[in-house]
Parts: sequence; structure tokens; C-alpha cells
Amino acid sequence: MTANPLRELPSVDALLRRDDIAGLVEMHGRERVVAALRAALEEARAAGEARPADRLAGAASATLSRPPSLRRVVNATGVIVHTNLGRSPLAEEAVRRASEVASGYSNLEYDLAGGSRGSRHRHLSGLLAELTGADDGLAVNNNAAAVLVCLAAMAAGGEVVISRGELIEIGDGFRIPDILRQSGATLVEVGTTNRTRLADYVSVLRPETRAILRVHQSNFRMVGFTESPSTAELAAAAAAHGIPLIDDLGSGQLTDLPSLMDEPTARSSLEAGSALVCFSGDKLLGGPQAGVIVGAAGPVERVRRHPLARALRIDKLSLAALEATLELHRDPAKAAARIPVLRMASQPSADVRARADRLATLVGGMVVATTARIGGGAVPLLELESHACSLEGGERLAARLRRSEPPVVGRVQEGRVLLDCTTLEDSDLPLIAAALAGP
Ligand SMILES: *Cc1c(COP(=O)(O)O)cnc(C)c1O
Repeated sequence: MTANPLRELPSVDALLRRDDIAGLVEMHGRERVVAALRAALEEARAAGEARPADRLAGAASATLSRPPSLRRVVNATGVIVHTNLGRSPLAEEAVRRASEVASGYSNLEYDLAGGSRGSRHRHLSGLLAELTGADDGLAVNNNAAAVLVCLAAMAAGGEVVISRGELIEIGDGFRIPDILRQSGATLVEVGTTNRTRLADYVSVLRPETRAILRVHQSNFRMVGFTESPSTAELAAAAAAHGIPLIDDLGSGQLTDLPSLMDEPTARSSLEAGSALVCFSGDKLLGGPQAGVIVGAAGPVERVRRHPLARALRIDKLSLAALEATLELHRDPAKAAARIPVLRMASQPSADVRARADRLATLVGGMVVATTARIGGGAVPLLELESHACSLEGGERLAARLRRSEPPVVGRVQEGRVLLDCTTLEDSDLPLIAAALAGP
């Protein structure tokens, strides 16, 4: 018979008496340290090993200093609105507003004038009206939710007409036909992939038709033999039939930046006659995750009263950050200077080049010309002139950079790691140098 080796394992109490563990208790609190020690002991038992106290203390210490799962990373990809990297960083003004609302109580659903219950769906009405020319507006959880609730409120039980050229899928399985089905509306496809005429829409309108839907093609572009009616033509056809035109702009844009001119603005869509226009909060708007809905008073009120508006509501932190971001958009010059994604998109290429020079000097790399992109389904063909710091080391080095703290995410091209300087802030450069100097 062999003795059970697990009997040799120290107790939690014995471990707590060690000096190194006492240090951990001071840093992380007793409760978390005890939990980490129990986990280390559990692991040793599962392995059937009588691990020494040193090793158990080390394991507990490693658990406690493990970074959180969701954490900030350095974006050296050159894709400004990178969906996998959290899309748009917030302006300082937006961070401050969210933090103020987060750390105390707020009038989220409270009418301060009347001292009675209010609606979270009214905070943005005035600001959105001012910025887009709409009668009214609100925000929900994200743009997918915005499209869903608009369709459910306006067209459930009826038919929605859409061009075959706009039956798109955007990242992460958001497919327009699926969303339509979930809204309770029936999809009526018209035209062909590359050409849809006004007459194609008009020919299917009947009493069961509840809306015409237009969807921005976002992350792809059709070139060559293409045709589609203008928003104004579609809106007029819808109005003549007594139904709304719903326009999903995807990224949307409030500020006309010269280099981004071909993204439609909510204002231009509303002026053309759309009844409801929706777009994301965290693409070119540069705010938090949200879906913004603007339009005519009646349709917006119908959306606001729909039960899905409750289920898909925006949370107070995003709402606070969104309001602060929209305030910056009142002044296009201020928006371009203060909102990170707009600042990156409009920065002079000489500044990017200078940053690449500094980074290359700091870490011993080579400066190369690259192209950066807006991302987020906005202006997919637009190539922004950029520069990167190029390093030898390929996928191995890229993996090491991703393991550093904070992780640095670059791209690998022809066996070299490119750190694109369009999406880097000056304050990121020392972090990258530290990551490269590390193990
Ligand atoms: C990005 C996009 C959406 C989805 O927006 P989320 O904010 O990611 O939910 C919907 N429609 C279009 C056209 C888009 O580009």
C-alpha cells in the first residue's frame, strides 16, 4: 500500500500564514486570495499531486494577477472602426459623461420638471432633431436592433419590399432577410443583384405592402452595370402608396468629412423623404454601441411605443456617452478634432508618417507605406494613405505582441509584422516598445 500523496498538501490556513501570501492578501483582499488558494489546491488534487507550498502560492499569485478577460488593446491594424477590436474608441467628453452617470443616480427615466416617471427614449429627441433635421429620434441597443424594431413597428403582418441588390450580410451573421423574418414582416424581393428600377418596386406594391426598405450596402460595392432608384424616387413612390420608406444607413455619418463624402448622411436621407432612418452609434459616428433611429414624428412614436423598443433598449452608460458624442457633432470641426475615429480618418498623412518614423527609431524597425481603412462597413473602397513600422519576425512576433500587456494587435504581411500608425496614438508607442522588449 502506498500512502495517499494528497495528505501532504498544506491547508488553506497554513498557506495564509506564509509571508508571500500575506502580501497577496494586502493587495487583493483575503476573500479573493482564499478563493485562489482553494483553486490551486483543487488543481493539485485533480492532478493527484502533493504540490509544495511554494508552487501553490505561485499558482494563486498567477491567478490573482491574471488580466481581465475584456481589456484594452493597442490597435496597430490600420482599420479604424475595427469591429473585433471594439469599433470606435470614445471621445474624452463621452467617457467623462458615462462615468458621471455610472457613479451616481441619474434621471434616466425620471421627469425632473414634473417629479414623475419619464422615458429614457426622450433624452436624445432634441439633439437628434437638431443634427439631422428629423422631427424626433431615439436610440436602441445597436443598429441591428434599430432595423428590427423599425420593421416590427411599421410592417409586422405585412410585406416589406427590398431590392435583391440590398439583401446583404454584414459581419457576425447579420442578414437582412433573417432580420425581416424576425420582425414579423414578409420579404418581397424585387429587381436583380446589380439592377433594380423604380418600376420594379412600384409593380409589387399592393394593400398588404407596409414599407419599402433600403439598406446601405456597407462592406461591399457593386461596380459596372448597376442601377438603383434614388432615395427621393423611392420615398415618393412609398408616399404615393401611403407607406413609409425605411432607410438603414449602416454606418451613417453626421459630419461631412471631405474624404468620406460618399457615405450618405441621415439629413440627406430625411430630406429625400425617408420616414425612418437608422444607423450605428459606434461606426463613423464615433460613439458607443447603439442604434440611432430618426424620422417623422408619427413613425418615431410608433417605434418608441413598440414592445421591442423596451426589450432592445439602450443602457444608461451608452446613452450618456452617445449624448456627449452627439453634442460634439454640433460643430463639425470640433467633432473631427475630438472624436477619435474622425480624428484618425482626417489626420494629415505627414503626421502618420512622423509617428511611424518615431516608432521605427524607438524599436529598430523599418518605415513602409501602407493603406489604412475606415472599416465598420463604411466606404469599403476608400484607401487612406498610411505608414507602418515594419518588423522582422512574422507570425511568431505577432503572437508575442498579442500576449503582452496591453496586447498589441498588428498585421502580418509577407513574413513581417506591420504596425500601422493611422490607428496608433502617440501614447501607444512606449507601450509597443515595452512589449517588444519583454519576453
Ligand atoms: C453595421 C450595419 C448594421 C448593424 O449595425 P450594428 O450597430 O452592428 O448592430 C446594420 N445595417 C447596416 C447596413 C450596417 O452597415
